[in-house]
Amino acid sequence: MGILGGGQLGRFFTIAAQKMGYSVVVFDPDKKSPAGKIADKHICRPYDDKEALDELKKICDLVTTEFENIPAKTLRYLEKDIIVRPEAQAVSIAQNRIKEKRFLKKSGIPIGRYAVIDNFESIKLFNDEIDIFPAILKTAQFGYDGKGQMHVNNVTELERAFIRFNNAPCILEEKLDLDLEFSIVMARSINGDYLEYPLIENQHEAGILDLSIIPARVSSILHKEATKFAKKIASDLNYIGVMAVEFFISNNNLYVNEIAPRPHNSGHFSIDACANNQFDQQVLTLVGSKPKDEEIKFPVSVMLNLLGDLWFRRGEKKSEPNFEMIKSSEISLHLYGKSEPRIGRKMGHITILGLEKQSIEDVIRKAESIRKTIWEN
Ligand code: ADP
Ligand code: MG
Repeated sequence: MGILGGGQLGRFFTIAAQKMGYSVVVFDPDKKSPAGKIADKHICRPYDDKEALDELKKICDLVTTEFENIPAKTLRYLEKDIIVRPEAQAVSIAQNRIKEKRFLKKSGIPIGRYAVIDNFESIKLFNDEIDIFPAILKTAQFGYDGKGQMHVNNVTELERAFIRFNNAPCILEEKLDLDLEFSIVMARSINGDYLEYPLIENQHEAGILDLSIIPARVSSILHKEATKFAKKIASDLNYIGVMAVEFFISNNNLYVNEIAPRPHNSGHFSIDACANNQFDQQVLTLVGSKPKDEEIKFPVSVMLNLLGDLWFRRGEKKSEPNFEMIKSSEISLHLYGKSEPRIGRKMGHITILGLEKQSIEDVIRKAESIRKTIWEN
């Protein structure tokens, strides 16, 4: 099987696929890609290199992606001759915020107020009194981990931000007052079999996922509603594979934030807490099998992301954090094999599994104390 994109998600996919006996070809232009290092083969070429894509077609029977910014054109080119899951059509919607919003609206999914900003004329329609401000301007494409986003409070700031993004097509979103953020990670087979992991509560720092809490502290009414929306999105997209839907709760109302057409950082708890993790499901749905029942071994868990910032905690000088104290069996450390730590770069994560009788709050406290210890060591 082939995978387009060789980041941390591709690396976990490769591990899952190899465990089931498959060989994996990673296609990623980065020589040092974390997944490329462990794959059976790494094709290190740009995503629009036809000759390299032809080679991928020759070696592989099936291809998937780990990264929504793979050009849809590339997926369409592969689709002509081999199986690509999820299909180009679904990825092309999820990778473009304008198409994504239109799709969600058409499917009857609740979303926050937004406007398309694709030229200066569209900005003229706004004035500071229109109550979309404060708002967030997001580039329609290529954003991730809060990149390609600027908070704007009035028309002047909106104009400045649009110029900063080189007049690229954008979405202007009303900034919602968030009670809580959560995600649904689900898998759907070619026959429409649907599997959903427990809701995942997500806390972000500066637009980057910091902490995930499982199960999310969300009422059963909103849980049911969210599941209904996730199912509807997956079926309207004709989705085959693993997908994450990010939700906001604001003033007790549910909104869909965005769709990720791939496994999701927030689903990493499944590696340690479930019999079958989100990458196992990606492999299974890719080969046309049903997703396997998620069988949760640890009903309560917390995931702590490890960003490159941790490598620079003593100022400018880079130093490897000390993970020595992570010795207990209910704490699991994952490092992604990224050679260059950078501020804001996801380098790894830690999963803290809740033991019997431990409440969510106990596990969160433990996570916070682990974080403190790592930062101080
Ligand atoms: P990314 O592709 O970087 O994940 P998101 O659109 O999910 O982009 O934004 C990242 C984070 O920024 C969200 O998880 C949320 O914390 C915050 N955010 C984004 N949009 C809004 C909004 N409309 N109102 C309030 N907070 C938002
Ligand atoms: Mg997001």
